[in-house]
Amino acid sequence: MSGDEVFVTPIIKEILEKYRVIWAIGHASALMGWDLEVYMPPAGVKERSAASAELGVLSQKLLLDPEFVSLVEKASEAELANDYERGLVRVLKREIDKMRKIPPEVLREFIKTTGEAQVVWREAKQKSDFSLFKPYLEKIVDLERKIAEYLGYEEHPYDALLDIYEEGVRVRDLDPLFDKLESELRKVIEKVLSEGRYPQWHPLEDLAYRKDDLKELNLATLRLLGYPLGERARLDESAHPFTQSIGINDVRITTRYEGKDFKRSYLAVIHEFGHALYELQIDERLAMTPLASGVSLGIHESQSRFWENIIGRSKAFVTTVYPLIEKYLPFVSGYGPEEVFLYFNVVRPSLIRVEADEVTYNMHIVLRYRLEKSLIEGSMEVSDLPSAWNDLMEKLLGIRPKNDAEGVLQDIHWSMGSIGYFPTYTLGTIAAAQIAEAIEKELGSLDEVIRAKEFGRIRTWLREKIHRWGATYPPKDLLRKAIGSEYSAEPFIKYIRSKYL
Ligand code: MG
Repeated sequence: MSGDEVFVTPIIKEILEKYRVIWAIGHASALMGWDLEVYMPPAGVKERSAASAELGVLSQKLLLDPEFVSLVEKASEAELANDYERGLVRVLKREIDKMRKIPPEVLREFIKTTGEAQVVWREAKQKSDFSLFKPYLEKIVDLERKIAEYLGYEEHPYDALLDIYEEGVRVRDLDPLFDKLESELRKVIEKVLSEGRYPQWHPLEDLAYRKDDLKELNLATLRLLGYPLGERARLDESAHPFTQSIGINDVRITTRYEGKDFKRSYLAVIHEFGHALYELQIDERLAMTPLASGVSLGIHESQSRFWENIIGRSKAFVTTVYPLIEKYLPFVSGYGPEEVFLYFNVVRPSLIRVEADEVTYNMHIVLRYRLEKSLIEGSMEVSDLPSAWNDLMEKLLGIRPKNDAEGVLQDIHWSMGSIGYFPTYTLGTIAAAQIAEAIEKELGSLDEVIRAKEFGRIRTWLREKIHRWGATYPPKDLLRKAIGSEYSAEPFIKYIRSKYL
């Protein structure tokens, strides 16, 4: 992938030279964030939050340095050599615009508040006591509403927040999308539950494993998929599985080991592998530039969902990895591949989003989307949130949380100030089905590619069509280029119907 330089115009080279320091701060912050989740003793959080806040402010200062801003502005009017250069200017302008509009004291308060809120949220969740978290969430919602006003929007304040995570996506796009998903999924869920072809519970869920055994299975599966372990990538443990790219050649994923129900850890690893592969397959010539990352959360999530759901939960994949599973987890050997497939595809309305299956998952996002929108537009107070959550959950999935821990406190996102983020999970889910359709048009049946263990062919397709571009194209343009259409729910609904009905 290396070879010719892609940044050739003198003003772009000048911008990149200055950008180096901003990149280095981002690099350090990424490592600090990873460390906070994986290694840091909990009491370190106050100092770590303060240090992160200072680095955030420093980065903002450098980005808004008048000399840097005027270079980017000049570049946006200059004749540029290629799409990479134009993409670079687009990404920087977006960043500068965002930072310019949010006053430094607001940004500082936001970083500090969310740093502390994450710790309080953990305690509140543990004690299942929303009242501990409530004052922090009130402050966060207040800050987010201010931020939406500073950023500006045309139709709905929530649009301003959405755009941070998914460039170009609006309430106008999402209202009909979520309405359609709700009504379609309601029908599918009813049918799947009444037909009983897929179980609502499987005995493998109760079986205990030895952590070291599952870790070996996870590593062996990652090697099979082509994850460059020990070379450019790692697998670690954290309370909540995640992926952190520190550089194109240093990408880290985590999982958790709960001691039973091995698919929870196993499918999380495959999910995070999808995120990591995106970062690992970015064109190396984009390293240390603003283009060296996935373009949006929706596109990022399409990669993780593609590997986790469409590959990882398929019968072809389960049959292919069954010998590995049996080797490392001998207690599985009495079950056979068909049973493991059913175990991976249990359909059960659940209270917890991260435990949800493919069929019910998007109902959890419908819920969060509607609540977030109400909070940001001011039609709901934070104090009404727990009961609103429970009512909506009952309406969408027919089950009601008994306490805050399995209701409103379950996700880390709001404590991080990530309001507007949840919809990208659904965008990713539907894009994964669109991408699978496009891959099959070129490579033929995915099942056959999987059974032949030719994962390299899938990796290559993804690299060429999506990964290598990094953030060069906005998400909607990238999708059009890669698969010929923008976000659409049809292929996902088709996929769910044909797999489950
Ligand atoms: Mg993810």
